[in-house]
Amino acid sequence: MSKFYVIDAHCDTISKLVDENASLENHDGVHVSLQGLKEGCVGIQFFAAWIGPRDKYGPHLHRGLRLIKEYNSMLKAYPDVFYPVHGITERNTGKIGALLAVEGGEVLEGSLSNLHLLYSMGVRLMTLTWNFNNEIAGAAMDNNAEGLTTFGTEVVKEMNKLGMIIDVSHLSEEAFWDVIELSSQPVIASHSNAKSLCNHPRNLNDRQIEAIVSKGGVIGINFYPPFLSLQEASITSIIEHIDYIAGLAGAEGIGFGSDFDGVEYLPHGIEGPQSFPDIIEELLRLNYSEETVQKICHGNFSRVMNKIMKQ
Ligand SMILES: [Zn+2]
Repeated sequence: MSKFYVIDAHCDTISKLVDENASLENHDGVHVSLQGLKEGCVGIQFFAAWIGPRDKYGPHLHRGLRLIKEYNSMLKAYPDVFYPVHGITERNTGKIGALLAVEGGEVLEGSLSNLHLLYSMGVRLMTLTWNFNNEIAGAAMDNNAEGLTTFGTEVVKEMNKLGMIIDVSHLSEEAFWDVIELSSQPVIASHSNAKSLCNHPRNLNDRQIEAIVSKGGVIGINFYPPFLSLQEASITSIIEHIDYIAGLAGAEGIGFGSDFDGVEYLPHGIEGPQSFPDIIEELLRLNYSEETVQKICHGNFSRVMNKIMKQ
């Protein structure tokens, strides 16, 4: 495997497979294709089961289970391409690791036993909210965003205990600080950028970035143009967020969280995972050391996974 292999901490490709009947073998239907993952030297891809609004996608847990079924079918269909990542000891350099995530803690429907159910099915990361407040916490895009609820407090503690990665992307700022204070483990923002460069409610302010990094966590740079730049976004915009976060809090806190297949369009120069080498080349050209580029590509997320996930 390339020394600059990539861990991408967020894509919504499974929902494309379910909702649009897309195929990983067809470049036109998805950002994340089998060929793109290989060309992009992706070592581990996090696949999020995106729950979405109930009125469109049905009861939350049912929706989550439907997406997980599709994820399992995908692994089964391509046993030579993927291997599932459940714990820290699994390494298979000939294949692409797949980590199962859920985007939207509403999937629990307010029940801690559903967290255990999902864990038993292989889920190793949960984004606590999507765009709307739920039983766990307030969301960044919702009005009157609240903090962490009593149930949310139990969920965070249980995720710590189980060895699940807590994802604070999409959280309200109130809930964010509650989680930072409560979690005994590092947390990640799987797909968020710097608000100081691009003032969007989904992005993180400087204090939030510093808090994630000083707790040992990582921020996955999101490629969605409206989160990158108020102007037209490009590879340069992605590098600007990397530069900014590195300057503010250190390169140990940076990774990739592309949001492929969760967004309608991509920056100039980015077509899918096959474009990761172009970002890497640009970082090296800008005199980022090989060691730092390796950390950004996979070393930082790998550190967090090893710290949080059990055997
Ligand atoms: Zn998202």
